[in-house]
Amino acid sequence: MKIIRAEYLGMCFGVKDAIALAFETAAGTPLTVLGDLVHNETVLGELKARGIRIEQDAAAVATPTVMITAHGASERKLADARGRGLKVLEATCPLVHVAHRTLAGLVRDGFHPVVIGKRDHVEVRGLTEDLALFDVVLEDADVAALPPRPRLGIIAQTTQPIDKVRRLAQLIRERFPQAEIKFVDTVCQPTKQRQNAAVALAQQCSVVVVIGGADSNNTRELVSTCGRFCSRVHHVRMAADLRDDWFQPDDIVGITAGTSTPDAVIEGVHRRLDRLGTEKHERQMV
Ligand code: SF4
Repeated sequence: MKIIRAEYLGMCFGVKDAIALAFETAAGTPLTVLGDLVHNETVLGELKARGIRIEQDAAAVATPTVMITAHGASERKLADARGRGLKVLEATCPLVHVAHRTLAGLVRDGFHPVVIGKRDHVEVRGLTEDLALFDVVLEDADVAALPPRPRLGIIAQTTQPIDKVRRLAQLIRERFPQAEIKFVDTVCQPTKQRQNAAVALAQQCSVVVVIGGADSNNTRELVSTCGRFCSRVHHVRMAADLRDDWFQPDDIVGITAGTSTPDAVIEGVHRRLDRLGTEKHERQMV
């Protein structure tokens, strides 16, 4: 069994920095993270072990310091937390800040804001909560339901697949040929690198293992991307999820991982695949 890794995989710098800030802060003061820092059970377990609490609502925060995740937050949400007397630490990824600034610029220039992304995703809520009027689209049907506007300013949730984003932006142009449309690509570079590397990986493998939390959106996107180029794709959270009967001795096995998957978990899966390959080879020799 040959095992190869995607050129880009696993945790992005935005998530790594947010986790580091949480650990560093919690070493000196009790800390609550507002919302899910990462959709990964292993990391969430580590946060808990260091006494870091997670709450979805500022009203439930019982520590003096609260941290905003890498996904960012609206001014309204930040003001609400500060208004409750909380010290607010922002771990917002700089690339999410870029999306915020881009959207604000489009609105300032008179464009009606349209975000390509998931309406109820924390990043999209952060992008749109301060706006009086906006639209969020994720599927063709959402584009078909858009009301006509003379000027549309389009951006994307940073973790959406870039092919899908470009296609939806083009669909909006075709639906409103008379409108002035400005599309700014705000999908982040680490997402693009991981998606492109997953395609390249899936094209050369007989089976692909995608590592990430069960609730991780970008891990599921990687599973779906790999599934377009490889018929045997398995989503695992950790090494213990791997099953011996998924693999054949002559398989080329690809490994990729979502942006919230820690390096240690990737290493664990790689080691276990190595062992499975060795065992299969030895069984063949008997
Ligand atoms: S996925 Fe992209 S935008 Fe989100 S934290 Fe990572 S680098 Fe930042």
